Amino acid sequence: MALNKKYESMRQGIRTQSTAKKTGGGTKFNLPEGVNFFTPKVGTNKIRIVPYDVTISKHPNKIAIGNAWHDRQFAIHYNVGAEDKSYICPKTVGQRCPICEYRLKLAKSQNPDEAVLKALKPKDRVLYNVINMDDLDAGLMLWEISFHNFTKKLNEEISEGDDDYDYFAIPDESGKVLVVRFAEKTLLKNTFLEASRIDFKNPEEAIADDILEAALDLDAILKVLPYNELEAIFLEIPSEETAENTQQPEAEPQKEERKRTPRTPKKEEQSSEDTSAVDEEAKKAAEEAAEKARKDAIRLAKAKKAEEATNTNENECPAGGVFGKDTDNLPACDTCKKWDACITQKEG
Ligand SMILES: [Zn+2]
Repeated sequence: MALNKKYESMRQGIRTQSTAKKTGGGTKFNLPEGVNFFTPKVGTNKIRIVPYDVTISKHPNKIAIGNAWHDRQFAIHYNVGAEDKSYICPKTVGQRCPICEYRLKLAKSQNPDEAVLKALKPKDRVLYNVINMDDLDAGLMLWEISFHNFTKKLNEEISEGDDDYDYFAIPDESGKVLVVRFAEKTLLKNTFLEASRIDFKNPEEAIADDILEAALDLDAILKVLPYNELEAIFLEIPSEETAENTQQPEAEPQKEERKRTPRTPKKEEQSSEDTSAVDEEAKKAAEEAAEKARKDAIRLAKAKKAEEATNTNENECPAGGVFGKDTDNLPACDTCKKWDACITQKEG
C-alpha cells in the first residue's frame, strides 16, 4: 500500500527512533545491532540469567578464558563533561582514571567539599545477559542495574539460601528462574527500583542454544575511553569561553550555568594522531580547564550544600538509617549525597 507522501517521513522517523533505542550503547557500551535492554517493572519479574564465555585474561572474578561467568561488575561516572554523559570508570579494567584521580586530589585538599566528592565518585553497576520469562519473544536481553539495588541482594540470597542456588546461572534444567520483586523507592526526589525479594524456581527447560550463543561478551562491550580522551571530556577541553566565566560567582547549580554547545570533539574524530600531537598550548588549555573545573566544582558544592540544608540536618541519614554507621548498608547509599561524610565518620 502506497503511503500518502506526508506520512512517509514520519514513518521513517519512527523507524529511526525505534532503532536508535534498541541499538548502540551510547557512551558506555559497544553493542552490536539490535540489542534489547531489559527494564524491570514494579512488582514481580521472572528472569533467567544467561552466562557468557570469558574472553579476557584479567577477569575481575578471576575466571579463566573460555570459562563461563554470569555477571560483569563495573563502575560508572555520571554527569561528566559539558553534555553530562555517563562514562565507565577506567579502573573497571585496571586502568588509570582521570576523574578518580581528580577526586582523590580534591579529597586531599584543605577543604574538600563532600558534595563534590560524592558527585565524582563512581557508582557500582552490574551487567547481565537475561531472558525475561514473561516475554520470551524478546530473546536475549541486556540488563544494567545498580549493584546495591539488586546484585547485593542476589549474592546474599545465594550465600544464605539452599545449596542448589549456586547453580542458578547454569543454562540447563539445573539452573534457576529468578523471581524478583521490585519495589519503587523515593529518596530526595529520586525514584528507583530496588529488589525487595528474590525467589529461586526450577525452570521447565534448558536455555535454548541460540539464546546461549547470543549472550553478549560482557567484558568486551564495556566502552572504556583512553585516559586523555576521558580527561578532555571531563575538563571540557577545548573550552574557549572559560576564562571570563570563572570569575563570576554563580548561585545556580553547575549543570544550569554551563553552555550546552558541544565543545569537545566527538570521540570518532579523535584519532590516535590527535592524542600524540598534544602540544604545549593544549597543556596550557588543560591547566586552565582544570582550574575552571575546580571552580565549577566549588560552585556546584555550594549549590548542593544549600539544597541539602533545606532537605535534612547536617548529620542525619536521609534514608532513615544512622549517619556514620549504616554506610553502604542501605540501597540509598549508592546515590546518597552524604556518602563521603558518612563513610568518613564511620571509618574515622
Ligand atoms: Zn574513575
